[in-house]
Amino acid sequence: RFITFEGGEGTGKSTQAKRLAERLKTLGIASILTREPGGSTVAEIIRHVLLSGAAKPLGAEAETMLFAAARDDHLTQTIRPALERGEWVVCDRFSDSTRVYQGVLGQVDSRLIKRLEKITVGDTKPDLTFVLDVPATIGLARAKSRRGNAESDRFESEDLAFHERLREAFRQLASSEPDRCVLVDAGRPQDTVADDIWAAVSRKLDP
Ligand code: C5P
Repeated sequence: RFITFEGGEGTGKSTQAKRLAERLKTLGIASILTREPGGSTVAEIIRHVLLSGAAKPLGAEAETMLFAAARDDHLTQTIRPALERGEWVVCDRFSDSTRVYQGVLGQVDSRLIKRLEKITVGDTKPDLTFVLDVPATIGLARAKSRRGNAESDRFESEDLAFHERLREAFRQLASSEPDRCVLVDAGRPQDTVADDIWAAVSRKLDP
């Protein structure tokens, strides 16, 4: 079983991904928690290149290819081996982030995005994707309040209009694939959100 968490900044997806992985472990279900960009040796190095700003001189297409290269390694080294061992994989961001950030917001040609997704992801599509949704003002405030202790990240933006476009793009993505995606109101208390996510996992994947 392959479950991904998606959404803008400050939606709490990393917290919820971690909570789900812990819940699976508590139930004795073998699972791994991983993240993108990153999740394997090469992909973590690429993550650093991307988030540190070192890749800033690259154009949007080349940057998209770096995300794709990281994803390819992550799938080969981490995700597919875990799935083959029969473990559940919980992943904090995956290919939907590329569709939204590089595709919709970065305006990279959708044919390139689709082609790269086909090459990297292939048939290893998530069984279930949670799209965490909060109003842009809340996401922005949450992202700002944690700034300073997190690694510096060149993609984070304090522009409200950017967060609004981000939110809208993720909402559209969720409604375009209703069988796979569950839109979650993440403005509620953390425990309520976690319970909702667990209910959907139970209903759809029968753990
Ligand atoms: O998961 P987290 O929010 O920490 O993601 C790290 C950063 O990478 C975010 O600022 C996000 O905007 C950026 N990112 C991106 N394109 C992706 C995945 C992540 O711009 N495909």
